[in-house]
Amino acid sequence: MKKNFTTQELVIHLTLKCPLNCSHCCVEADINQSESLDKTKVLNSILACQDIPSINKVSFTGGDPFVAKEILLAGIKQASQLGLNTAVVTSAFWAKTKNRAVKTLQPFIDAGLSEIMLSYDDAHAAYLDEHYIVNAFQAAVNNGVEVKINVVREPDDLIDKNHMEQLLNPRGRYNSLLKISETAVNSTGRAKQDESESTRRQRAQADQVYRGPCTSVLRHISAQSNGQWVPCCGVIKPPAALEMGNLGSHELGEVLSQAHEDPVLQWLAYEGPVEIMKQITAGTEQPMEDEDFDGICHACDQLFNNPSNQTLLDKALPDKLTSLKLQHAIYGIIGLNSSQPPPQPTTQQFDHD
Ligand code: SF4
Ligand code: SF4
Repeated sequence: MKKNFTTQELVIHLTLKCPLNCSHCCVEADINQSESLDKTKVLNSILACQDIPSINKVSFTGGDPFVAKEILLAGIKQASQLGLNTAVVTSAFWAKTKNRAVKTLQPFIDAGLSEIMLSYDDAHAAYLDEHYIVNAFQAAVNNGVEVKINVVREPDDLIDKNHMEQLLNPRGRYNSLLKISETAVNSTGRAKQDESESTRRQRAQADQVYRGPCTSVLRHISAQSNGQWVPCCGVIKPPAALEMGNLGSHELGEVLSQAHEDPVLQWLAYEGPVEIMKQITAGTEQPMEDEDFDGICHACDQLFNNPSNQTLLDKALPDKLTSLKLQHAIYGIIGLNSSQPPPQPTTQQFDHD
């Protein structure tokens, strides 16, 4: 039976493998990782979207999906045949020359690829010269494929949105096909390893830090490379508390039904993880403030990966239920619970391969 939800996009984390080893990588991808989804799981998760009319897009991320080119191509073909938009997130490590960029991208364009998201910033520049991005960008726009560039910035980084605009679109010729955004590094994954107190403070003071409601939870559903469904774009290594069942044994419709009834996920969607952390720690010996977080995924990581915060959450939830029901009803009346394009990304990833 077809069911409708707020969920508009399936995000497939194809593999954790990546030829790069960026210092801010929230999923800790590198060339030695082996965790990947097989072709059957990828194709079945896309087929399952047929029963969920609100889903209109399938995105592929990782790691870098281009290390699993054959499965990526099969996935894009299948999604396009079902009438779904498609996007892939990549560092463009495969675009060393113009010719190689065109040759690599062409089969995906022929299969129906609608959008490519290129990740570039100081952390990526440690591994790839910017001509890789220029080659990939040209190969895409010359075929009418939309390009999004996401720049993930540490406070003192040199590469920013203006730099990418000057590099790719100095005369505004590609305004209809190019979107460039900047996000702040969240202290998750590799970005939190060896993090000094001063780095943590600087990150929390960055202009781009976002601490509001999560615009991904319940709007995205991700198929993780470990074979689990997660009810958001899944840009932190999925804590057990966010996993909603195995791809092979849990139907997508059931997973989404369960997710939309979950008061913790509603709390994340309506008020956000920073607000949750502040509310559950108020009155404890260490109440948390906005400045303790450099982004919503950082707050989520602390909420779900710290057992004492889980205990505080369980304790606070019963008193929160009435307010959540009220918010659910209000958002339903004004239309925020219906299928509509989600606001701009507020997370470091999945606009990051
Ligand atoms: S804040 Fe980040 S980790 Fe948490 S639900 Fe939203 S996207 Fe997922
Ligand atoms: S940030 Fe992207 S390119 Fe860099 S290691 Fe992680 S997955 Fe690879």
